[in-house]
Amino acid sequence: MNLFETSRQVTVLGAGMVGVSCALALQAKGWSVTLVDQQAPGEETSHGNAGVISRSSLLPFNRPGLWQNLPAMLLRPGPNLKIRPSALSHWQWLWRFLWHAKRSSFEVTTVALDGLIQLSSDTHRAWLKKAHVESRLRDTGWLWLYAHAAAFESGAASREVLQEFGVACEVLNAPSLQALEPHLAPAFSHALWVKDAASVDNPRAVVKAYVAQFLEAGGQLVQSKVIALQQQPSGWQWVNPDGGVHWTPNIVVAMGPWSECLLEASQLQNNFKVNMGFERGYHRHFQPVEGVRLGRPIYDLSGAYVLSPMKDEQGADILRMTTGVELAARDEGSNLQQLECAENAARRVLPMKSAVPGSDWLGARPTTPDSRPVIGEAPNAPGLWLAFGHQHIGFSTGPGTGVLLSELMSKEATSIDPRPFAPQRF
Ligand SMILES: Cc1cc2nc3c(=O)[nH]c(=O)nc-3n(C[C@H](O)[C@H](O)[C@H](O)COP(=O)(O)OP(=O)(O)OC[C@H]3O[C@@H](n4cnc5c(N)ncnc54)[C@H](O)[C@@H]3O)c2cc1C
Repeated sequence: MNLFETSRQVTVLGAGMVGVSCALALQAKGWSVTLVDQQAPGEETSHGNAGVISRSSLLPFNRPGLWQNLPAMLLRPGPNLKIRPSALSHWQWLWRFLWHAKRSSFEVTTVALDGLIQLSSDTHRAWLKKAHVESRLRDTGWLWLYAHAAAFESGAASREVLQEFGVACEVLNAPSLQALEPHLAPAFSHALWVKDAASVDNPRAVVKAYVAQFLEAGGQLVQSKVIALQQQPSGWQWVNPDGGVHWTPNIVVAMGPWSECLLEASQLQNNFKVNMGFERGYHRHFQPVEGVRLGRPIYDLSGAYVLSPMKDEQGADILRMTTGVELAARDEGSNLQQLECAENAARRVLPMKSAVPGSDWLGARPTTPDSRPVIGEAPNAPGLWLAFGHQHIGFSTGPGTGVLLSELMSKEATSIDPRPFAPQRF
């Protein structure tokens, strides 16, 4: 029997929400865990998101109907989706992503994501409490806002799916929306209040609180860049930029948008290539006008932004505006056009002070062709475990990913069906 099959020692690469969740869940099962990141924990994608944890996220972007809407999306691109020429470097992802916009894939993906989201929500609640930061969670749902009746009608298919899954929602007309969020301008004819949803007031602070919990329970945190992995007769080595090698019986790659390129650099993709794409998104912070507040994140569908009430690192109130999708190469420089459009739209519905200087941020949602994260052991590479590709919902689904991975690694019965997430599907 190989060491990786008996040893309960593991190194987790990447300290975003997904890696930290894997570390916590493995530690809870008695594994001795080292967490490695080139930065402090929670400084990348898991920092910049909108902090929404919602069952409505079971709906992937590539769904039936996408093909019919595609010509209009390409000919008259709206603020929701910008495509830059460098996106073509990921044409294989794009093609496969579109190919999965069919009923059969949609059915598997929605069921799988719903299971992962529910497992994650329960786990988040338990961990927030354990880390003494449960006050960061707001159980007030989130709002999808429609400017006119035709926009509301175009969302009927999504609402039907949410109903099928029993996601608690309430349709609001303009007066009931006004009663719920009195500071919003009367710019919306309808809203969907997704009640099976919560949000946090500072995603980075939550990741850091989970890491503090992990360290308190005896976990190790190492700050180092990882440039390659090497398979050993027994176990794995990860390599740092100085050529230093670090042996471990088991390794988890949870480096979000950087995961697949580490596998490529390590020439570990013989029988396995995910073909990841990057749905980039921006954020900008605003100081709220005194007395003006939102009780929950809002998603303005025509303005193509989410506005989330949050706290900055000093505990002051801020509004974080996040944008729709920009398809581009992961590392291409930023283009502020989408942010500017979103800001113009947001200012029409909520009074806000000026943008917080230096707050502009760009991140890349790491997306697999079928919109399902990769969770499980890499094919033909015993001891190499994968947890990446969480697209728009990795902040919410990190904890469920950690629980599922820890069950698979501990050879236990799993809380949810692992097959839709298995790396073998690629
Ligand atoms: C605009 C926007 C809004 C979003 N809103 C939401 C939301 O409301 N709810 C939600 O659930 N999700 C949301 N998401 C998605 C979510 O943020 C991501 O799915 C999630 O953060 C991915 O987490 P991760 O741990 O996989 O990646 P990351 O958080 O990016 O972590 C990867 C880690 O790997 C480290 N790393 C990278 N390369 C190396 C290396 N070579 N060596 C060592 N370490 C390395 C990085 O430093 C980083 O800490 C949003 C994303 C964006 C962009």
